[in-house]
Amino acid sequence: MHSRLRFPCFCALTLLLFTSSLGAQTPAPSPISTRPIVLKAARLFDGKSKTLVPNGVVVIEGNTITGAGSNVPIPDNAEIIDLGDATLSPGFMDAHTHLTSDFSGNYNERRLHMLDENISQLALEMIPNAKATVEAGFTSVRDVGGGFPNSHDFPDVSLRNAINKGLIPGPRMLVATHGIGATGGHFDDTNGFRDMLFGAEPDWFDGIADGPDAIRKAVRFEVKNGADVIKAAVSGGVLSLADEVDVPQFDPAEMAALVDETHRLRKKVAVHCHGDAAAKEAINAGVDSIEHGSFMKPDTLQLMKQKGTYLTPTLMASEYIMGKIGQYPPAIQDKAKAATHARSEMFRNAVKIGIKISFGTDASVFPHGLNTKEFALMTGLGMKPIDALLSATSVDAELFGVANKLGTLEKGKLADVIAMPGDPTADITATERVFFVMKDGKIVKNDVKP
Ligand SMILES: [Zn+2]
Repeated sequence: MHSRLRFPCFCALTLLLFTSSLGAQTPAPSPISTRPIVLKAARLFDGKSKTLVPNGVVVIEGNTITGAGSNVPIPDNAEIIDLGDATLSPGFMDAHTHLTSDFSGNYNERRLHMLDENISQLALEMIPNAKATVEAGFTSVRDVGGGFPNSHDFPDVSLRNAINKGLIPGPRMLVATHGIGATGGHFDDTNGFRDMLFGAEPDWFDGIADGPDAIRKAVRFEVKNGADVIKAAVSGGVLSLADEVDVPQFDPAEMAALVDETHRLRKKVAVHCHGDAAAKEAINAGVDSIEHGSFMKPDTLQLMKQKGTYLTPTLMASEYIMGKIGQYPPAIQDKAKAATHARSEMFRNAVKIGIKISFGTDASVFPHGLNTKEFALMTGLGMKPIDALLSATSVDAELFGVANKLGTLEKGKLADVIAMPGDPTADITATERVFFVMKDGKIVKNDVKP
C-alpha cells in the first residue's frame, strides 16, 4: 500500500485502507518480574524439533529464556505458572500482515472509508489490529505494505515504534512502508480511478517506480524512512481493478535493480506475485520470498527449492474472499476465483517438492486476529501439523533474519512464549485457542483459570 491510496494485498487493491479499535478488557503488559518465571505445561513444542516433548518447562529471567525443555530444573525462588493440559510454543510469527488497515469489510465501503476519514482517525483505527494479532499468539509479524490514501505518512513505522515503546499492545513488527510497483500495477493506488482524480501520477515516493534507477531510489527512500524489509509487486493482484492477476509487472532489469539495491542495504525483499512467469524471473533475480504464488507450476517450485526461496502462501486471503465473493466488483470476483482455484494445487505441489514455506496470512483482507486459521488450511492441503507449526516459528524466524533471538524455545532466546490447549499435532485447531501469551518476558494475555 502506498501513498495515494493503498491496499492490502491479496494483494491488490489499487486503493485504500485501514481500521480498528481498542479492547478494554486486556490489562496492560505486566512489568518484567525480578524473580524468574517458570511456565509449565503437559507438552512443549520447541520450534525446531519434529516432535513435542512431555512435561514442558520454560524458565524466564527478565526478557530471556534461561532454560527450556522436558523436566528442566526450576530455580528455588521462581514464580511458577502451571498451564496444565496445554502445549507451550514459541510465539507465532506471520510473514504477511497489513496491521495499518482492515480491508475485511464490504469492498466499496472500505474504499470510501479510507478516503473519507482524517489521517489521524485512520491511524487510531489501526491500534486494535495490533492488539488482536498479539492476543492471537503472534508475537512477531512482517508487515508488508501500509499507508493511507493520498498521504505520504508511514503509519506502519509509527505503529511499530509505538509498540516498541510500550504505548500500545502489539507484536514486534518488521515493516515495509510503501509497496514498490509499476505504474498501473497492483500497488498503484490510482489504479481503477479516473485519470488525475488525485491530482498527480504517483511516483517513487509513493512506491511507484518505472525503470531500474527509479526502483533504486524507491528502495533507498523507504529504508531512509524506516523500512525493515522491502516489498514489491512483480505481478498483478486480486484486489486491484486495472491489472491482470498473473501478468508480469517488472522487466528483468527492474527486478535485478530491486534485488541488488535491497540486498546492498542488507534488507530482504518480499515480492507479491501470483503469476508463474513473473515468479520465475523474481526467483532467478534472487528475491527472498514469493508472497501468494497462486499460479506457480512445479518447475517453478523446483527452482525455488534450488535457490532456497521461501513461499508465503496466504491461504486465508483467498479463503476469506471466496466466502463473500458476491461483495466484490465483477473484475475482482473473476481474479479471485482464478487465483483460488490455482493456489490449492500449487500449495500441494510445494509441500510435495519440499520448498521452504513461511507462515503468512495477508491479515487485513480478513479480520485481524484470525491469523491462526491459516494452520488448518495448510494441513488441509497436505502439510503435516508439525511442519505447519515449524513454519510459523523457526522457518519464519529465518526468513525474518531474527533466528538468533526468536523462533525457538532455547536458552538465550527472547522470551516470546505462548500456550494452547491440548496437543496441536493431534488437533491443529488448538492453535486457534491460544490462551496465554508472553512477549519479551511480559505476559500480555493469560486466560488461565486461577
Ligand atoms: Zn498483502
